[in-house]
Amino acid sequence: MKKVLSFDIDQTLNVAKTPITEEIAELLTKCLNHFEICPISGQKFDQFLIQIVNPMLDYANVTEEQLSHLHLFVAQGTQYYKYNPSGAGYDEKNWERVYNYPLTDEQVEKITKAIEESAKELGFWEEDKLKPGDEIIENRLSQVTFSALGQKAGTEEKYAWDPDCKKREKIVALCKEKAPEFQYEIGGTTSINAITPGMNKEFGMTKLLEYLKVKKEDVLYFGDMTQPGGNDYPVVKMGFDTITVRSHEDTAFALRGILNVL
Ligand SMILES: [Mg+2]
Repeated sequence: MKKVLSFDIDQTLNVAKTPITEEIAELLTKCLNHFEICPISGQKFDQFLIQIVNPMLDYANVTEEQLSHLHLFVAQGTQYYKYNPSGAGYDEKNWERVYNYPLTDEQVEKITKAIEESAKELGFWEEDKLKPGDEIIENRLSQVTFSALGQKAGTEEKYAWDPDCKKREKIVALCKEKAPEFQYEIGGTTSINAITPGMNKEFGMTKLLEYLKVKKEDVLYFGDMTQPGGNDYPVVKMGFDTITVRSHEDTAFALRGILNVL
């Protein structure tokens, strides 16, 4: 039997950038009784709390003991957080950052310049559509992320922006000319993640095996961007058993099936 269930977040556990549903919160909480649960995504730590942990507390009364089996592989697993139960009830302070591999300031600057120039040259720099205080390019410490319409744009608007990934493929192609020393991956609905080579989910999944002391065969992975060029593809390429989903509804369906045969 598998020991670890690992999940991409956006479009796999939730509607991109929104908290998981009550159903997913309940299913994941049940899974914590049987498996180590490892979400891995390009997002920041605080988004893991907002999108995954808080709904599990709100909807499913997840316990500290259960949370000790939840492992957060932040920024594609270039940061890893685990929960240390205190016995006094849930406290955000009990999340320990076990490791962190950040980009240098110089790398962040180079990537930011390449993406901004590329998007502007192609006419895909949508600064006028940003909500106040929002930004298109975000430094997530271990990666730089381009979100075409910013973080705060509406879901529908985001879906409509680049449903076939063609705009982002063009931006990526130009970025590769301007700053070829970095890797660019398409994810979510409007995003491109830029990283140093190898600092993608391959890095995160390798660390997962190391820190959880499990073998590849012990892990089942869920993702929506498993095609070549997608941000889940490195996991497929490494040979992990993978379930490709179209949305969190497919994931819920699969998890119900797994819980039923335990
Ligand atoms: Mg995804």
